Amino acid sequence: MVDFADTPEQAGFRHTVHDFIEKNLPPVLRLRPDEAAFRGFMEEEGENERDARAKERAEALKKWRAALVDKGWIAPAWPKEYGGANLSPMEQFIMNETFTETRTPRLGVPDVGSTIMVHGTEEQKKEFLPPMVRGETRWCQGYSEPGSGSDLASLQTRAVRDGDDFIINGQKIWTSGAHLANMIFALVRTDPEAPKHRGITYLLFPMDSPGISVRPLVQMHDARGFNEVFFEDVRVPVRNAVGEINRGWYVGATHLDFERSSIGSAVGQRQMLDSLRTHLVEQRRQQPERSRLERADSPRLELADRYVEAIVAKTLSQRVISMQARGLIPNYEASMTKVFATEFNQRIARTATKLLGKYGDVRNGPEEYTPMRGRWATMYLSSVSSTIAGGTSEIQRNVIATRGLGLPRG
Ligand SMILES: Cc1cc2nc3c(=O)[nH]c(=O)nc-3n(C[C@H](O)[C@H](O)[C@H](O)COP(=O)(O)OP(=O)(O)OC[C@H]3O[C@@H](n4cnc5c(N)ncnc54)[C@H](O)[C@@H]3O)c2cc1C
Repeated sequence: MVDFADTPEQAGFRHTVHDFIEKNLPPVLRLRPDEAAFRGFMEEEGENERDARAKERAEALKKWRAALVDKGWIAPAWPKEYGGANLSPMEQFIMNETFTETRTPRLGVPDVGSTIMVHGTEEQKKEFLPPMVRGETRWCQGYSEPGSGSDLASLQTRAVRDGDDFIINGQKIWTSGAHLANMIFALVRTDPEAPKHRGITYLLFPMDSPGISVRPLVQMHDARGFNEVFFEDVRVPVRNAVGEINRGWYVGATHLDFERSSIGSAVGQRQMLDSLRTHLVEQRRQQPERSRLERADSPRLELADRYVEAIVAKTLSQRVISMQARGLIPNYEASMTKVFATEFNQRIARTATKLLGKYGDVRNGPEEYTPMRGRWATMYLSSVSSTIAGGTSEIQRNVIATRGLGLPRG
């Protein structure tokens, strides 16, 4: 039988995390229960910025970051010399779990940091990792192009060598956060003659490099997260290539393995379900005529299914964590976690909007008509894209079929 209880060491570490939060978290940053559950989705909407307390929170956030930087808990997995704390994957999981349970905002580093950690030179680690930890750099991902999404290796953005520089021309699309980022990591074609996977290089460069322009794309739930990014004769030093020139495909793939691990999401999903259940029970007490909890044909049984799936999600995350603990980079295992976690998000949103009744789909308006501040309705829309971002569910299933099950390529 699998025992999920903490060992004495893990319990001790959990206590340390609680203690640290108690001593250092400015009270204004403690998230409200509804904010905590929907944190990931709210950040995407920029809801925190619209909050009236934004200024006070921004100041508090600086203090909170400084405390976390001091402790090495912004990038807890990294060695101490790059600003990390050298925590084991299980300690990281406990830390994340404790932050989520106590409604504490987490500050982290982007996945590109882990990629630099694996493939970067010592100089690159020293140059790029500490500013990430201090929150001075904000990164965006330049992979997809208008003609290259799932078949990413067909990308056309060209980088031509000119002495110690590359000169880049081309276009990226669906670049999340490019309008806010000051750095980009991009896949570019450096050898058009080579087979498509063998002529790609992984480059890091500032977004204010001359020749870069950014054009926003608006999503169906009004979020302005996406952009097109255009490159016209952009100069990037050759020393900014991560890994070998023309071997960037494999560097980019490591990045996707990190991105797909989704090890943080299971705890948040459980919390979202808890917030839904609490709301429904309260609604039944206050407005029994609106409650759908008793109806025999109601989707309430779905809620039970969602709770079962929350345990599956957590177990999949724990598998990824245990691989990382052994120094392995999860590959098809990360795809399994990604496909499950993102499709699970959509199922949770569907169940919630059904259970909330006829106003479950309303996003904006008076409180009476927007149960749980319309957050589930927003999540219903925004969760659609999660099965596309970072590689579609079909692509993840291809990875599981070929690399996990050893089936032939279709
Ligand atoms: C929220 C979000 C954020 C994103 N952020 C970024 C970002 O920051 N940077 C970035 O570079 N990109 C980003 N993307 C783009 C994302 O990586 C691509 O949308 C994704 O890889 C799919 O590519 P595509 O849109 O070109 O679809 P296509 O590749 O054209 O796919 C269309 C359909 O065909 C299916 N399909 C394609 N090939 C196969 C196959 N071999 N087998 C079975 N089915 C297949 C797909 O599953 C899909 O259903 C983001 C996307 C979203 C939705």
